[in-house]
Amino acid sequence: MSDVAALLGPDGAVARRLDGYETRDEQLELAVAIERGLRERRHVLAEAGTGVGKSFAYLLPAVLHATANRGRGPVVVSTRTIALQQQLEHKDIPFLQAVLGLEFSAVTAVGRNNYLCLRRMHLATRERGLLFDDPVQQEQLRGIVDWSLSTNEGTRMTLPFPTEREVWDEVCAEHGNCLHRACPHYEPCHYQAARRRLGSADLLIVNHALYMSDVALRLAGASYLPAHEVVVFDEAHHLERVATESLGLRVGYGTVAWHLRRLQPRNAPRGLLARFGGARSKVLLGQARLCAEEFFDTLAARLAQRRADTLPLGDAELDGSLAELLDELAATVEDDAGRIEDLSPRTEMLARARGLATLAHTLRALGRASTPNHVRWLERSGRRRADRPGTGAELRSAPLELGAALREQVFAAPRCAVLVSATLDTDSAGFARLRSKLGIDDATTLRLGSPFDYGAQVDLVLDEALPDPGTDPEGFARESAERVLHHLLDNDGRALVLCTSWAFVHRLAETVRDRLQHAGIELLVQGERPQQELLRAKRDDPRSVLIGTESLWEGIDVPGDALTLVLITRFPFAQPGHPLTEARIRALEAKGGNGFRDHSLPEAILKFRQGFGRLVRSRRDRGKVVVLDPRVRTKRYGREFLAALPTGVRVPW
Ligand code: SF4
Repeated sequence: MSDVAALLGPDGAVARRLDGYETRDEQLELAVAIERGLRERRHVLAEAGTGVGKSFAYLLPAVLHATANRGRGPVVVSTRTIALQQQLEHKDIPFLQAVLGLEFSAVTAVGRNNYLCLRRMHLATRERGLLFDDPVQQEQLRGIVDWSLSTNEGTRMTLPFPTEREVWDEVCAEHGNCLHRACPHYEPCHYQAARRRLGSADLLIVNHALYMSDVALRLAGASYLPAHEVVVFDEAHHLERVATESLGLRVGYGTVAWHLRRLQPRNAPRGLLARFGGARSKVLLGQARLCAEEFFDTLAARLAQRRADTLPLGDAELDGSLAELLDELAATVEDDAGRIEDLSPRTEMLARARGLATLAHTLRALGRASTPNHVRWLERSGRRRADRPGTGAELRSAPLELGAALREQVFAAPRCAVLVSATLDTDSAGFARLRSKLGIDDATTLRLGSPFDYGAQVDLVLDEALPDPGTDPEGFARESAERVLHHLLDNDGRALVLCTSWAFVHRLAETVRDRLQHAGIELLVQGERPQQELLRAKRDDPRSVLIGTESLWEGIDVPGDALTLVLITRFPFAQPGHPLTEARIRALEAKGGNGFRDHSLPEAILKFRQGFGRLVRSRRDRGKVVVLDPRVRTKRYGREFLAALPTGVRVPW
């Protein structure tokens, strides 16, 4: 019997220590496959249904491998969010440390900006009159100073009170703004201590964004994470999206304004420039501000003219005046810095100058014609406001193809990767589509069901007597709202309604709000409050109804009787017209593929499965999933959506 099978089996250490623990065949199979993959240095791609207990299934072999191979770098475990990192750090790993009887060190790494910089905190305290004129912000700074005397971790996540971004920006560790060994606070520095711990960890817990930022650094010849031969990605279906973000570029007016504000706030004689800046820098700052407003206003107007959320830029060259001004400002700020005798503010000014130069470089890259592997576009960002010039649009670019970079930086031998998720891919040919996108040539693949009894726990209803949303979107929107209301009242609330556009969310909310209120059911609408707050409200008031799109299709957990109905309004096909998606589809078709069958349909099926998966989060959950999209029966591909549901779901064909 393998080591992990002995530990996870019915008489194993985990079962003996965990009250109510039930051995799950799927979990054992997954753990054994990962153990073998690590031993044989083969990538493992595993889709494991909800409730399999994936964390223990990958953590156990990861820990055993790390302790048996000390000196070859840590085993890196990457989760989707910082919250999931914390769950491993505070719950699963301490449990394993207690039951395994093995000495091993697990370290959680977060991005540099999440750490307190003691030098910058002291500088901000000294200069607080210049930095903040708001007494609330001054009070927050005082709170941070008090907290710094007792905190062991020095991370923003452990700060016991909320802090405005403007305050944290002045005290956090920053790239290019560190004195390293020349810093008087080097020894007690939380960031430096965390870096030292990274090097000695057996298990390193990171998040996908941090890991992929490190991939971008590696491509530029640097790195933050230590060398490692094993990486485990939990919720690996997010990797493509996160890699696209990390390896792409993005600049909006907000980013430029943030850099300028950090030199000197608008209309306020405060900040570094007020104290240390020369006359030329102050003039250039004003010019850069106006130029940025004009530049981004022009872009926002182009979007508004097209009445679109995105606009491909193709070979269009953009005006380079803003980049030139920022470069000039960077050079004069650097000159100003050279005249400061005190090391700490000089470092601060130099960091600002470097930040401006990098920003100018990024703007220049975004302003040039797209390269064969890069797509550039304009994207709507927030609302365009007449009273805030420059708002409403941002410039973006992303790689068309990720495979080559990821193959080289993540999946090349001797590194061995494990990718685990409840929904990895739709094809039955060894996740070929996913492997091709991520650059994984060869891997052990397995697909494991869920231990839940979907036949008994879920009632699937196909309420399909509605107009086709593809050919009659207006008719569908009108009639589906009535059906949604009917199902919500029939179920006494306790529901999640999944939509595919913000416009539909708002329209639906307007239609059902009063009538739900009349029935004493609270309506929670995504976007009206922060998501964590909405989820808390949903759990606190089980009868409430949550309506939304995008992130609500996956990754939210509302177990118990607060969620007994999931309404899927229509198949979650991506909105057509996004320049990156269109370019990727064109590239796929140029190689002989079919855009709908090989891209749009599988992506929509994956999302549909994720939405369906919101209902049953434990063996006790029971309820109904209602699909309102009539194409479930009228289109041939409708059957493919249903066929992708977990084994056991009774489909009313
Ligand atoms: S070592 Fe760097 S990050 Fe740490 S306190 Fe000093 S300047 Fe800040």
